[in-house]
Amino acid sequence: MKSEEERRITTAEPQKRGYVYIIGAGPGDPELLTIKGERVLREADVILYDDLVSSELVAQFDALKIYTGKRKDSHHFEQDAINAEIIHHALQGKIVARLKGGDPFIFGRGGEEIDVLRQYGISYEIIPGITAAHGASAYTEIPLTMRKVSSSVVFCTGHPVNKIQVPDADTLVYYMVASTVHDVLDAVVAKGRSEDTMVAVIENATRYNQKIVTGTLGELRKSDKVVYSPALLIVGDTIKQYIKENWYSKKKKVLIMGGDSGMYDREDYIVVYFPCKRVDGADHTMVMQCLESIEQYSVLLFSCKSAVKYFFTYLTEFHRDARYLARCRIYALGKAVSAELHKYGVVADFCFEPECSGDMLALFKAHGVEQEEILLPASELPDEYLVTTLETLHNRVTSLSVFRHLTPVQDEPLDLDFIDEVYFSSQACIRNFKAHYNSFPERISVKTADHEIYAEYRKLFCA
Ligand code: SAH
Repeated sequence: MKSEEERRITTAEPQKRGYVYIIGAGPGDPELLTIKGERVLREADVILYDDLVSSELVAQFDALKIYTGKRKDSHHFEQDAINAEIIHHALQGKIVARLKGGDPFIFGRGGEEIDVLRQYGISYEIIPGITAAHGASAYTEIPLTMRKVSSSVVFCTGHPVNKIQVPDADTLVYYMVASTVHDVLDAVVAKGRSEDTMVAVIENATRYNQKIVTGTLGELRKSDKVVYSPALLIVGDTIKQYIKENWYSKKKKVLIMGGDSGMYDREDYIVVYFPCKRVDGADHTMVMQCLESIEQYSVLLFSCKSAVKYFFTYLTEFHRDARYLARCRIYALGKAVSAELHKYGVVADFCFEPECSGDMLALFKAHGVEQEEILLPASELPDEYLVTTLETLHNRVTSLSVFRHLTPVQDEPLDLDFIDEVYFSSQACIRNFKAHYNSFPERISVKTADHEIYAEYRKLFCA
């Protein structure tokens, strides 16, 4: 068996030039990525992404991810360094996805990046994205143009302050106004716009924490409102269309910890996932060791969809497929896990469907899951209750960490002030939540997959 390093060397094709896609990720809601953008991100070897790209979006893809934003605690990438990074990977023959917030050609420096690609003769494509103005407009129900009210719209920047322009258009949209909103408003008035004109400041458009403040130009100039980035300022009378109870603000916001329960329909809910990430480094070695000695396990038990997904990703990296597992019995915990196994060509030998964790002991016993050597692919926080239950029946359980629950560091921590409900799919999720948030706001309702998980929530947050 070749080592990881040897494999990398023999498969590299130094003569081949890579291909670069400059992709607009949209303004925040991960579903606003285009279908083409999504396909390319699935195929990419490397994804270089910016601050404004949602980590929830990036977490879905398996490519090597390089954060090129301006996070305080990380290496600060200047534009030249970003260009160099793109070129470096492209020259190694890689498919590089350069993922930018909104649209790459609206205040996105996409133009500068293609200049460099042209210089190096590297092939590229540009995939547009939904720019923040369009996202904000749709998710606040403020049209940018409207018959008899506004027949023109311009996109401007509020930064730098000495370059603020006020073109002659009915609707003005200003990007980058977090520190300059009052300067922009002054400039708009100086250009002769009436103080009665409506204005709106929209922060975090299309995200779970979208916030809007509206008023007249005069009112907002006088207020001492602090604007938090990312924010847009819209000026123009189409803002009169704005209603507080709009289609987006009416939805309940639910934070899902762990697997998707499928119980939240998108008509009524905005679903925010707590992102999970795969483990790498030292744990990778442990996964490979387990795979090499797979014949020592009589049972492979999958208890969540992510475990299936990441286990099979590793199996593919190990140049194997489901046939390699032929000597193990494969068990799934729940229909969703069983369906996930189908994707990898595996029909589970048995699908356990406990109504609650308390049923597991009896179920395992009834199906003779006793004195087995069990491999349990899981996150770094395997379900202790499941492990103890299996051990009670004299099984030997090896928990194998194939993914990790993490809050990616470039993000602000999730702002619980905007969350109405949290759903926990396992006890591990509650412990993970506790690691990030010490207390649980009373205002937020809690749902759990079963009673035992609820008991764990009570133990950690209500004791
Ligand atoms: N290429 C991006 C713009 C990048 S400039 C696009 O097409 O949207 C960065 C500015 O975009 C921010 O300062 C802010 O003004 C705006 N912006 C980006 N995402 C936003 C969001 N979700 N809500 C409000 N403004 C946003």
